[in-house]
Amino acid sequence: MTATRTAVTATATVSAEWRGRAEGLFPGGVNSPVRAYRAVGGEPPIIVRGDGARVWDADGVEYLDYVGAFGPFILGHAHPAVVAAVTDQARRGGPFGATSPGEVELAERIRDAMPSLERLRFVSSGTEAVMSALRLARAATGRELIVKFEGGYHGHVDSLLAQAGSGLATLALPASGGVPAAVASGTLLARYNDLASVRALFAAHGEGIAAVIVEPVAANMGVVPPAAGFLEGLRTLTREHGALLIFDEVITGFRVARGGAQSRYGVVPDLTTLGKIIGGGLPVGAYGGRADLMALIAPSGPVYQAGTLSGHPLAMAAGCATLDLLDPDLYDGLERSSAALEAGLRGAIEELEARASVSRVGSLLTLFFRHTAPRDFDEVREADSDAFARFHAAMRESRILLPPASQEAWFVSAAHTDADIQRTIGAARDALGA
Ligand code: PMP
Repeated sequence: MTATRTAVTATATVSAEWRGRAEGLFPGGVNSPVRAYRAVGGEPPIIVRGDGARVWDADGVEYLDYVGAFGPFILGHAHPAVVAAVTDQARRGGPFGATSPGEVELAERIRDAMPSLERLRFVSSGTEAVMSALRLARAATGRELIVKFEGGYHGHVDSLLAQAGSGLATLALPASGGVPAAVASGTLLARYNDLASVRALFAAHGEGIAAVIVEPVAANMGVVPPAAGFLEGLRTLTREHGALLIFDEVITGFRVARGGAQSRYGVVPDLTTLGKIIGGGLPVGAYGGRADLMALIAPSGPVYQAGTLSGHPLAMAAGCATLDLLDPDLYDGLERSSAALEAGLRGAIEELEARASVSRVGSLLTLFFRHTAPRDFDEVREADSDAFARFHAAMRESRILLPPASQEAWFVSAAHTDADIQRTIGAARDALGA
């Protein structure tokens, strides 16, 4: 008891000092908004170290971590093979402003796992991958409109910062300051898992729609799996209307299966965007797809896209080391531990008759404070975010770090042990009870 209290007091000292300095430097004290904990309250942690499923804050307090850096760390933090690969490459230098073998090696691994990426291009973030894929889609079709889904997140691409207009087939308004209305109006909003909403957009704007972009498993409104037939329906509709289908697999790629959601659900998009896991925790993104489309990218075609740090050797090394460990056994283990977590949370919810539900696809999971798991963004918004904030704080008291917003996925890694999962279930039961 005394030891715990000492640790908590210490947290208020060293971490608080770093937070103070960060607040004087960065907007909101952070370099990416969700890290500021505005959705859950409480002081955002200052993390100094990670190892496996654990992270430590600036005061040495240890947490079991389900943030997983928001997706890359399917192997856990600082996996020895990844650290060795990155260290080895760092000694050899780079980047060189020239192609180096790591790019080829990572690209070959990606194409083996996801054959729809006949050609691909590395960039430095998921945002860049999406931005480039949209430019390509517009050039390839000679059309300008893009359909996205309410609650879908594709990075901070200007045109896709459009959120919910009201209802079906509404032209989007800018949801972020600084986005020109003309840019936002090139984005049409549909409802996830609602093919009729997509059909209506094609009926009204069919000739003008360049592409439909979708997270094949929605993971930025919390986890919402695709309804049966939804992805197939998107494939059919886009084909019928001469539009491209873009799967944003920045989260789902190598996460929900080695071949991503496209292999898990058996639907092949024209273009795919990737990030996170393929960089093993270093800055990376990629976009790719049909060879005839990718041939439009400079210098083989007229669509310009470039990057000083693209295909960075350190990121390529971390990516290769990560992908080399993602074999069927690893996915089986992840499925087992994630299923155990889901079952334990469901059990606690039933036992306590809590108004909550669990949604899971592979090692992506969300606990929603809503009686049934949501099927679209409207239902997601019905969940009780105050209840989630209290739950998050209680879990943090138990030294378990969850993503700091009710609409983020929890990332289970291969480093989470059965004991970690059981401890998480126990803490969740206590938190739900309180
Ligand atoms: N697409 C999806 C599906 C994402 O989840 C994210 C980031 N969470 C992005 C794109 C943007 O990636 P980045 O943050 O690397 O720019």
